[in-house]
Amino acid sequence: MALKEIVGHASQIKIFQSSIQKGTLAHAYLFSGLEGIGKEKCARELTKVLNCEKGGADSCDTCSVCLRIDGETFSDFHVIVPSGASRTIKIDDVQKVQKSLNLSRYEGKAKVILFTEADCLNEAASNALLKILEEPVEKTYFFLITANHEAVLPTIRSRCRQVPFYPLADSEVEQILTQSEVKDPTQREFLVRLSEGSIGRALRFFEEKGRQLRQSVIKFALSKSSSPTEALFASEQFQKSVEQDKAYLWDILKIFEGVYRDLLMLQIAGNEKQLLNPDWAQGLNQQKDLYTVDQLEAKVIMIERIRTDLHMNIQVKFALDYLLLFLIDKEKSLASH
Ligand SMILES: [Zn+2]
Repeated sequence: MALKEIVGHASQIKIFQSSIQKGTLAHAYLFSGLEGIGKEKCARELTKVLNCEKGGADSCDTCSVCLRIDGETFSDFHVIVPSGASRTIKIDDVQKVQKSLNLSRYEGKAKVILFTEADCLNEAASNALLKILEEPVEKTYFFLITANHEAVLPTIRSRCRQVPFYPLADSEVEQILTQSEVKDPTQREFLVRLSEGSIGRALRFFEEKGRQLRQSVIKFALSKSSSPTEALFASEQFQKSVEQDKAYLWDILKIFEGVYRDLLMLQIAGNEKQLLNPDWAQGLNQQKDLYTVDQLEAKVIMIERIRTDLHMNIQVKFALDYLLLFLIDKEKSLASH
């Protein structure tokens, strides 16, 4: 892939191409926006443009440099990802970056350091990175990516040129899905609706694991009487998915919210056409009187609150346990409203 093949983000890409050609690229960028919309892909493609043997405003995508950047075997391209059970970027990771900066460029025109989840830098690592960012090195570029802008240290943010990325349009998600393995138009339409502008989310729901997770969440939301023990058990299962891929956390919250919004829609408008979960229309109709409108609204508000708290980096276990216990507790839904 080259920059010209990226779907969406046309204005951001145009600015970058112009900066590269004029030689005015900043030494550090923070790309923020919903996960799964193509921020990291843009950073990787820009790395190719900066180093491509053919030069110019876009990469050739075929020279040995482009291929090695794609394969992450290019020695002037460093990708830093969170690790360990805590999923953090630690000071050791940043110190390795520092060491590589002290060495001259091996083979490329530009050194690029990509942090795929900059919000996962712990405090010590953030401070070490801050020192590096304060002393720009020629032809060395940092791309920091985050879906959780608020969780990136303000001092780091202020050292980067900030570039917001926005959710893709439905037509853009559809276009990418058409190019992918999703061949059935009805399924594409359904995935577009679930995606909310994130192709990453659409593709996760196309995979077996994502589909199963969605089933489990909807079943839990529609179960008539779950006990606290069952809620905590379900929370544990969801946490296991989140450990495998943090993005599932946002999916889980989104699915819960979708179910309660669907129940509201059925109660208030009696309309099945606008359902976010049309494949569950029957189950939703059967359960639509399970809660009052007030209770459903309280649940949606609670999900939104948890989402905001997660941006402040509260623990996933605490958030999910709390949410699921809240969702099964009808009295509490009423009292909190
Ligand atoms: Zn090339």
